[in-house]
Amino acid sequence: MQPTLADIHAAANAIAGVADATPLVPSPFMGARCNGDFLLKLENMQPIGAFKLRGALNAVAGVPDAAGVTCCSTGNHGRGVAYAARQRGLRAVICMSELVPQVKVDGIRALGAEVRITGRSQDEALAESRRLVEAEGLVEISPFDDPRVIAGQGTIGLEIMSRRPDIETLLVPLSGGGLAAGVALAAKAIKPDVRVVGISMDRGAAMYQSLRAGHPVDVEEVPSLADSLGGGIGADNRLTYPMCRDLLDGTMLVTEEEIYHAMQVLYYEDRLVAEGACVVGLAAVLSGKLAPKPPVATIVTGRNLDMEVFTRVVTGQDVTLGDKIVKGQAYGT
Ligand SMILES: *Cc1c(COP(=O)(O)O)cnc(C)c1O
Repeated sequence: MQPTLADIHAAANAIAGVADATPLVPSPFMGARCNGDFLLKLENMQPIGAFKLRGALNAVAGVPDAAGVTCCSTGNHGRGVAYAARQRGLRAVICMSELVPQVKVDGIRALGAEVRITGRSQDEALAESRRLVEAEGLVEISPFDDPRVIAGQGTIGLEIMSRRPDIETLLVPLSGGGLAAGVALAAKAIKPDVRVVGISMDRGAAMYQSLRAGHPVDVEEVPSLADSLGGGIGADNRLTYPMCRDLLDGTMLVTEEEIYHAMQVLYYEDRLVAEGACVVGLAAVLSGKLAPKPPVATIVTGRNLDMEVFTRVVTGQDVTLGDKIVKGQAYGT
């Protein structure tokens, strides 16, 4: 069952005082590029460093007492589930692939969850999580294809539109689509003609390719500066594929070079340390691929990045991503 606006309001209650009310701040630099306000919703300020705490808290709240939970994750969902499970005293087993940065693994372990690293893809992590459901009776919490997770992420849309009902365009980082589906549902319930654009990296953009194909497709998972946007949408996708198809006004792709530059912009112009996944909206505008109608808002989705890679980006050094090298360029040169 697809979540409704009422479910998003219920989620807002479930997360109140823990994961709500992050700041919404202007970026003067980006605003000048758009001839109007450009606002940043700072989900990097969440207790776990990413918005996924919203969906995880709302989903874990629906799990029976004494049950354990499991999920697959590119890192941030696992950390949200670990946090929510600890708050309720539940066991949590987080399954991830070898592509997950160590910083994310460490963050999850520090919350007391068990970590299983299996294979090179999100699909393999999902298979392990499903095995644990069978073998150990754990409750699976999908990173995106779960009505309570989508409703939790949707609270971001409520918060943005109730603070700034004049927003014309929302730029949303897009992976499994829980964030985009929830935000679009909430925002359009408040303002039906707001434009919501989902943006992904051009290497391994599962939802983008699926929407073009007309059905969920598999993509090869490769290393990216936007590692949180990796992974498939599931061949058996029930919710986020139809919701993104019906609610998004557009989807687009940005390159690793565009992400690299946008990470520098967010750091030097707005003084923010944020993952590559956060800047895809900025990258779309800075590259000239998108000229959004202002006021614009985007979501700075998380800060759980590999600081060595981040340091290389902001100091203008080359970054190696598997068989791809992103050529370094110092900011402002
Ligand atoms: C999960 C995640 C996204 C994408 O969210 P989906 O619901 O999978 O589309 C974007 N940014 C960060 C930092 C994330 O952890």
